[in-house]
Amino acid sequence: MTSRKKSDELFNRASVKIPGAVNSPVRAWKAVGAAPIFIESGNGATITDADRNTFLDYVCSYGPAILGHAHPSVMRAIAEQARLGLGFGAPTRLEVELAELISSSITCAQKVRLVTSGTEAGLTALRIARAATGRPNIIKFDGCYHGHSDSMLVRAGSGGMTLGQPDSAGVPSALAAMTMVARYNAIETVEGLFRAAPEKIAAVIVEPVAANMGVVNPDAGSLKALAEITRNNGALLICDEVISGFRLCFGSVAESMGIAPDLIMLGKIIGGGMPVGAVAGSAKIMDLLAPVGPVYQAGTLSGNPLSVRAGLETLSVLQETNPYAALDAAGARLESGLRDALKKTGQTGCVNRAGSLLTMFLGPERVRDADEARTSDSAKFAKFFHGMIDRGINIPPSQFEAMFLSTAHTNADIDRTIAAATESLKDLNAGGY
Ligand SMILES: *Cc1c(COP(=O)(O)O)cnc(C)c1O
Repeated sequence: MTSRKKSDELFNRASVKIPGAVNSPVRAWKAVGAAPIFIESGNGATITDADRNTFLDYVCSYGPAILGHAHPSVMRAIAEQARLGLGFGAPTRLEVELAELISSSITCAQKVRLVTSGTEAGLTALRIARAATGRPNIIKFDGCYHGHSDSMLVRAGSGGMTLGQPDSAGVPSALAAMTMVARYNAIETVEGLFRAAPEKIAAVIVEPVAANMGVVNPDAGSLKALAEITRNNGALLICDEVISGFRLCFGSVAESMGIAPDLIMLGKIIGGGMPVGAVAGSAKIMDLLAPVGPVYQAGTLSGNPLSVRAGLETLSVLQETNPYAALDAAGARLESGLRDALKKTGQTGCVNRAGSLLTMFLGPERVRDADEARTSDSAKFAKFFHGMIDRGINIPPSQFEAMFLSTAHTNADIDRTIAAATESLKDLNAGGY
C-alpha cells in the first residue's frame, strides 16, 4: 500500500474551501468510497501524485491527452506561445488556422465557432438549433452527456449516474420539460417522440459513440435512421463529438460512419489539454451566430492563443503520425486481455470498446443502453478500482466512464494492466463477490 499522506492532507484542506474538495464532481472518488489522490505531474502514460507515487494513467484528463501527458512538442508550442501574451480580446491568426484545419477534416464543419468548454459548445449548439427551427424541444438519449447546461442535465450519464443523480436540482422544470429523453440504440423511442409532437422538436443531440455511460457503440444503422428522422421532420441532428472527435479517426466518427450531422460539437482533443470547445456546421446555420445573425454567443477567452496553439500542435501530430490504427490495436489488446481476465476469474461482465475508448462493466453480459449499464455492480467496481490503484493503475473512479488510451501507452503497459486487472478481479472472489 502506497503512502497517501500528502494527498490526504491536501484533501482535508480542499474539503474546507472547495465543495467536495474538487472542481468537477467526477474527480471525487465518491463512488469508490475514498478520498482522491492529488496529482502533481504527468509524463507520457503516467501520472505522479503528491506523495510521489506513479500510476499508469487511463483517465488521460478524460480524453484530451491522446498523445500522453506533457507531450514534448505540445509543451514546446505552449511555452513559445506564452511568451507572446495570453490573449488580446481580438482575433488571431491561430484561430483561423484551427478553424481551417477542423473544416478541412470534417465535411459538415464549413464554419467553426471556438468556445472554452464542451458545455459551452453544447449550449451554443442547442441555441442555434432552436433559432434555426423556431422550435423549443430537444431530444437527447438517456446516458449521453453533453455538458452541464440546464437543458442537458436530464438523464445525463456518467457524473449523474455515478452519484445517483439522473437530473440536477436547480433546473427549472419548465425548461427540463423541453428536453425529451430517448433510449440509446432504440430508434423506436425517437420515432415515438417525433410522432407525438413533430413540430416542436428542434434537434436530436447524440454521442455518435457513447462514452459517458461507459462506452456504448451505436447499432449499425441507428445513426443513419436518426439522420433520416431529423431530416424528414425538419429538425437538426447535433453530433456531440467532444470525446470522439479526432480520437477514433482524424475528424468526425459520425462522418466516418456515413452520417452528415447538421451541427457538430468538439472539445477535449482539439485543445491539446487546454480549455476549449467548438461548435461547427454549415455556413448557413453557423451564420445565425452574432455578429452575423441573431443568436448571441460570446466568450472573453474563447479561442485563446494557448488553447488554440496546443490544439493545433496536437492535431498536427495526429495528422502527421496517423496513430489511429495503432490506438485501435492497443485498445483491442486491452479488450481481449480484460475479457480473458473476466473469464479466468469467473467474474461476469462485458467489455465495450471503440478504438482507444473502453469500459469493462462488472455484472451485465451486454450493455447497449443506460438501463443495461445501470445493472452493473458499482460496489464490485469500487473494490476493483482500489485493486487497480493499489497496483499502480489509475482508471476512472466510476463504472460509467471510459478508460482512455494514449499513443504513449505501450504493449508492455497494457500487459501490466491486464495482469493487474486479473489480480484485482481475483480479489473480488476472495472478498465474497
Ligand atoms: C466532456 C464532454 C462534454 C463537456 O465538455 P466540458 O469541456 O467538460 O464542458 C460534452 N460532451 C461530451 C460527449 C463530453 O464527453
